[in-house]
Amino acid sequence: MNTEYLAKFYKKTYTEKIDALVKAELLTELQADNLKNEGVDLGQDIGEHMIENYIENYSLPLGVAMNFLIDNQETVVPMAIEEPSVIAAASFAAKIIGSAGGFTTVVSERMMIGQVTLKDVADPSTAIKKIKNSRQEILDRANEAHPSIVKRGGGAKDLSVRLLESDPSENIPSFLVVHLHIDTQEAMGANIVNTMMEGIAPYIEELTGGTALLRILSNYATECTATATCTIPSYKLKTTNFSGEEVRDRIVEAAQVAWVDPYRAVTHNKGIMNGVDAVVVASGNDWRAIEAGIHAYAARSGQYRALSKWHTNEKGDLVGTLTLPLPIGTVGGSISIHPAAKLSRTLLQEPDAKRLESILVSVGLAQNFAAIRALVTDGIQKGHMGLHARSLAISAGAKGAQVEKIAEALKKAPHMNLQTAKDYLSKL
Ligand code: NDP
Repeated sequence: MNTEYLAKFYKKTYTEKIDALVKAELLTELQADNLKNEGVDLGQDIGEHMIENYIENYSLPLGVAMNFLIDNQETVVPMAIEEPSVIAAASFAAKIIGSAGGFTTVVSERMMIGQVTLKDVADPSTAIKKIKNSRQEILDRANEAHPSIVKRGGGAKDLSVRLLESDPSENIPSFLVVHLHIDTQEAMGANIVNTMMEGIAPYIEELTGGTALLRILSNYATECTATATCTIPSYKLKTTNFSGEEVRDRIVEAAQVAWVDPYRAVTHNKGIMNGVDAVVVASGNDWRAIEAGIHAYAARSGQYRALSKWHTNEKGDLVGTLTLPLPIGTVGGSISIHPAAKLSRTLLQEPDAKRLESILVSVGLAQNFAAIRALVTDGIQKGHMGLHARSLAISAGAKGAQVEKIAEALKKAPHMNLQTAKDYLSKL
């Protein structure tokens, strides 16, 4: 990639932006022409095969965030999102962080968890012993149920058992849960895991005398995590009204609040998910799975807490870290079917699943930094109002150059609302 053509990307016209992506060697001329002429929306024929009762595509804008330096690799990040400011904030944060060395990431093994949940196990301790003694047989049977993933180097690797104690106060009996730990390689693996769990359930029933109630993956992917870290010298944090040290300390304090207060933690984490979801959607991954898993991870201590941490190191620099469970894939589901997901993969330079995890967790950390920095300095509304003004202008019916004119007028208006936008439009 040649990033010199991407400088001041946000100031370019639409055509200049696409041409810059070609010059930067992220798109071919043909891909750029397709994008400019036809777009990359789903065709009716594809949509009809993806879901039931299909009638239409629901579109989201796809943009690109700039300035990301992730593990020393420059990265342009496609993001599908309807909310204004998110891409600008990510690019702004990535620029500051990039100028300080960028993001460093660590990605765990990609191990997914499948569950067979048994009810009516008369003697749980004997059942647990039998399951443990039959470990290899169970793993073999799981792998026989999906041999192609074994050929790819993955498959069921380990087994564990959990006894869920009864809760008489809620009239809930005990359940026995068998976990398989499954390497799904480049896939998110829901279908792989589910096939394996259905494959082993009869044998587990035979071993335990219980009845398999549920046979499915867990979306709580605690063994498929990625961590991003960034270190920012405090002088880079200076604003008109605050010194760098003040901004640094206020960011650390804001993160402390989000650690102890669930009401703040949810909003803090929503900011992180602004970035993560946008890239998950752009890459064609299952964002419900990612959302469910990440919020459960935020509550792993028993209290819902901030996902990120910010502290000051011995040199006085601001250090941010974020760990997320990220069971995404680069194959499977709609990833290789959806034209916009394919375009996103091209822009991301065909990452493997671990690299995509590194990108996602870095975008989450960037978004978090941008949001807290704005909150503890100017406040979040300053940056948002310009974009809100444009949305109002469009809602009022403004077209082309009218949008900017009305947005500018609205920013100075005593009441920025739809009626004022309509009044300005009728005067134009
Ligand atoms: P798929 O079953 O669509 O695709 C995975 C398949 O891709 C593999 O079985 C493998 O088949 C093939 N493949 C090709 N190359 C590779 C590679 N390098 N590594 C791994 N596999 C490869 O997808 P998933 O199993 O990942 O399931 C994801 C889908 O399941 C998503 O659409 C999700 O929405 C959905 N889902 C989610 C659930 C949940 O989250 N609770 C529940 C049920 C479904 P082969 O080896 O045979 O070629």
